[in-house]
Amino acid sequence: MPVIKPTCIRDLKLRVNLADVVGRVVTLRKAGGARLKGLCPFHNEKTPSFHVDADKGFYKCFGCGKAGDLITFVRDTEQLNFSEAVEALGKRFGIVIEYEEGSGGPSHEERSLRQEIFDLHDVAAEHFHQAFRATDAAGTFFRTYWTEKRRFPMEIADEFKIGGVDAQGGGLGAALLRRKFSEEALRRCGLFFIYDDAAITLHALRPRFRGRLMIPIRDHQSRVVAFTARQTDLTPADDPAREAKYVNSPETPIFTKGNLLFNLDRARTAVGEGKPFVMVEGQLDALRCWSVGLKTAIAPQGTSITESQLVLLRRYHSQVECFFDSDSAGQKAALRFLPMALKAGLEIRFLTLAGAEKLDPDLLFLERGLAGYEDVRRGAQTAMAFACKAALPDPFNSTAETKSRAAQILFEVISASESEVTRAEFIKEAANHLRLSPLAAQKDFQTFLARQSRQAAARPAPTADDPDSSTQNSKLQTSGSAGTGAAAGGAQTPEHHLLLLLLHFEKLGPPLSHGLPHDWIDTSHPAGVLLNRFLGEFEQNAWPGRDHLDGLLESDAERALVANLLFEAPAVEDPVKVAQEGMKQLRARALEPRLRQIELALANPDADSESDPISLLKERSELQRQLRAPLVLAAVA
Ligand code: ZN
Repeated sequence: MPVIKPTCIRDLKLRVNLADVVGRVVTLRKAGGARLKGLCPFHNEKTPSFHVDADKGFYKCFGCGKAGDLITFVRDTEQLNFSEAVEALGKRFGIVIEYEEGSGGPSHEERSLRQEIFDLHDVAAEHFHQAFRATDAAGTFFRTYWTEKRRFPMEIADEFKIGGVDAQGGGLGAALLRRKFSEEALRRCGLFFIYDDAAITLHALRPRFRGRLMIPIRDHQSRVVAFTARQTDLTPADDPAREAKYVNSPETPIFTKGNLLFNLDRARTAVGEGKPFVMVEGQLDALRCWSVGLKTAIAPQGTSITESQLVLLRRYHSQVECFFDSDSAGQKAALRFLPMALKAGLEIRFLTLAGAEKLDPDLLFLERGLAGYEDVRRGAQTAMAFACKAALPDPFNSTAETKSRAAQILFEVISASESEVTRAEFIKEAANHLRLSPLAAQKDFQTFLARQSRQAAARPAPTADDPDSSTQNSKLQTSGSAGTGAAAGGAQTPEHHLLLLLLHFEKLGPPLSHGLPHDWIDTSHPAGVLLNRFLGEFEQNAWPGRDHLDGLLESDAERALVANLLFEAPAVEDPVKVAQEGMKQLRARALEPRLRQIELALANPDADSESDPISLLKERSELQRQLRAPLVLAAVA
């Protein structure tokens, strides 16, 4: 095994900014100082708990606990071993990786199969693209097809490495054999049909794609992982998929259809405020958008959109505009897609081509460019308006029964959203469209939910001992409920607020730990528990600092809460004053109920004969004194 020089690893860590490496996978936002935060790539979450300290070169997720440096990040997100991760980084940032004397560089055999299949796809994409550019008959055919039939500019072909493969398979097999790819990689790359027992010879490599336009599919890190092949006039009659307009690579060690969105690698860097993702139906639609300057278009891989695609999307931006053909198939697909999108926490709007039945999105962009998009955008429908129309196109001529059926469809959609506020809004909107009384709709929805939970209770619970078998669905619910749990853990309580202050103004710790009696803190929720625990650490001079809280956090709920608080930037001018305000609230909450009790007992002496009025009066004046006493935190150095 080749051994990489330790000096080389040090050099790599010095020269490569961790934020640049993480930023390829995670959209990072500023989180104060040199810190950045984003949605964790190692677990599903909706609020960011993954943070990166670019100065120190470390990342840390407060949700799942994953932590490490740039090498472990590449290792874990790209499924490489340590040396492969170092080599990948070296290649990416132009740093020459040196090996210990005599250990030699890595050979093909030593690279992981996945890495080899990535490399193989690179070679294949270039090979198909060169064939597309070649001056021979096939090349000329593809370029003409591209520019005249599809009406795309050549620059787009170069940018996306559009390729072509002639009716014989374009000599890809020979090219790959020359590059000495391993038998295993050739068997499993998905580009050939190979009989199981056949020895790997040129003859055994029967090309999967022949006579087709080749569109490389990249993962969200811009690596070519598969191809979509468009049928053309060159597609031979003996192609087993002759009739299929599009043929995709099969799933391989590097390609899982349901995990991938076409053009996400580029679109994710273009999204932002006022620039939502635009979901279109096919890869060429997405390329059309790109060609007119709409850089945020993405397309599902194949026909159905999966939850994991939507979760991936949510990592980068929460707003998505759906622009599908306005035929009924498109509508049905949209209705199926909507609950998943809501569950993933996406805000969906639908763009529809009203009045222009013959026009599809592709033609619209082709003829009107970006202006066409801006036009349909003005008429964008909310998710619920769209769903209502799909569920009940004509509410004015509907019987009570069809309305009630439509309502059930809509309830199904609405219940996917985890936000009560959103649900309430949706119910209102649905009632309005279906011409039902909002109150009745609300009631029916509650009945629907009750039935849903009865049905859920009747279903056998998924086995907990096999995490791999748990569906994406249940993972989402878990992460969602953890999120709301953290918020419900006292978003409005003084404990929550003091905890926030404490984490952002650590100097408040010592004076707070002395000035705030433990029994004023309500420890029935995580914020109170943590405030109590943290102040205890300050009291014993054992506070580890907010970057080293791992040892103090005992549950996922606690970790999520702290992560969320760390990423909040409290707009506080005078933290001491605000902390005193918080203490005052806790004091009032702790002492006032007893004071009221005493007042009551004093006003009705007969009702409470056991207590002696003298001691009650004493206790009252003591409580009143305590409540009036100025709360002063010792000066914060
Ligand atoms: Zn995580």
